[in-house]
Amino acid sequence: MKRDTKSQRLYERAVQLIPGGVNSPVRACRSVGRNPLFIDRAQGCRVFDADGNEFIDFVGSWGPMVLGHRHEAVMAAIEKVLERGVSFGAPVDLEVDMAEMICSGVASVEMVRMVNSGTEAAMSAIRVARGYTGRDVLVKFDGCYHGHADTLLVAAGSGVATLNIAGSPGVPEGTIRNTVSLPYNDIEAFRQFMTEKGDTVAAVIVEPVAGNMGLVPPDPEFLNVLRKETQAHQSLLIFDEVMSGFRLAYGGAQALYNVTPDLSCFGKIVGGGLPVGAYGGKREIMSQIAPEGPVYQAGTLSGNPLAMAAGIATLKELQKPGFYEALEEKAGRLSEGILRIADRTGVPLSVNRVGSMMSVFFTDKVVRNFEDAKTSNLEVFEAYYNKMLEKGVYLPPSQFEAMFVSAAHETADIDLFLSAVEAVLPELV
Ligand SMILES: *Cc1c(COP(=O)(O)O)cnc(C)c1O
Repeated sequence: MKRDTKSQRLYERAVQLIPGGVNSPVRACRSVGRNPLFIDRAQGCRVFDADGNEFIDFVGSWGPMVLGHRHEAVMAAIEKVLERGVSFGAPVDLEVDMAEMICSGVASVEMVRMVNSGTEAAMSAIRVARGYTGRDVLVKFDGCYHGHADTLLVAAGSGVATLNIAGSPGVPEGTIRNTVSLPYNDIEAFRQFMTEKGDTVAAVIVEPVAGNMGLVPPDPEFLNVLRKETQAHQSLLIFDEVMSGFRLAYGGAQALYNVTPDLSCFGKIVGGGLPVGAYGGKREIMSQIAPEGPVYQAGTLSGNPLAMAAGIATLKELQKPGFYEALEEKAGRLSEGILRIADRTGVPLSVNRVGSMMSVFFTDKVVRNFEDAKTSNLEVFEAYYNKMLEKGVYLPPSQFEAMFVSAAHETADIDLFLSAVEAVLPELV
């Protein structure tokens, strides 16, 4: 790695003061054997690092930037709300507008509470599920990430998978005693567990389209079985749509696969790039939350005007006719192009894609769960990542993260990606 770059100098300062030099682990780029680029600014689908290098961005801030960076309408909304102030700790009109936009767009959500991160959304949804059912057991799936709350750090994907750690020190045994993690897409394992223990299960939480072990689509029957079995045992079904919500369709993965959860978690896109999370669902369940009910959950900056304004402006763009169709077309061009080039060069890889979420796994297996994802050749991924970066393509620096296509990518940008792949793949054989 070149030593005299601005990124490198910033990193050297950062690493003295911030653990790993980063405020979220995967950014450190350790699994791809390099130090992070510090980003100076971004516009549309381009990011510019501290040294002025330009890249086509397929990270999109890990999901929120579905419109691309500095979208005009979002910037205007933020500027406008700045004239009013940034936080009052009292209700504002924008929170009601946001709640209406979520509840009218996502069929299963009748009431919603705004929080400040996806982590908080998942943690709070679980608390209300436990409060509502009076049960403790929580079922999740291997490789699904639901933020870093104690109870959920079991076989979690994302950074935990990238760093290859099973759980985390600092999570007391007692805290995860009631968390069970089962294989994703394994209908039999789930049925068997529910037959034995279903009546103790407060909630089953799942990424309806998994994006934190790389992108792994659900077997549609898997989601149906989750719905049927939870219903049969009066357990709640929670869809963690922090990544998939408003990305795969305005109504999220639940609209795409036509499965209705009891509770849903959102984040990322609903904040338009500002810190945000939300959880919502059936009125009867959501009314358990304080002050309407006894389940406590609060937040000093929750529903703050800046995040609401950016989120609302983003959602308005998504409501425009043809938005998701255009995204699908570009993402399809990308995945088909990669497969075509891979075929020609004979590099074993497998592409998973749902809408604008996608992963290239360096394995000859069809990736249906975390075990399959882990068969990927991580050395090949590291080489691929670094060579693509040299060609000006900015990808998530981990095999176990999804990449994102945004509305700001033009067909020409997709084709630039494909020509980079065309040059890089033969070097990986
Ligand atoms: C990103 C993500 C989270 C965590 O959200 P943060 O805002 O990073 O706390 C939770 N669940 C899923 C599915 C995510 O993709």
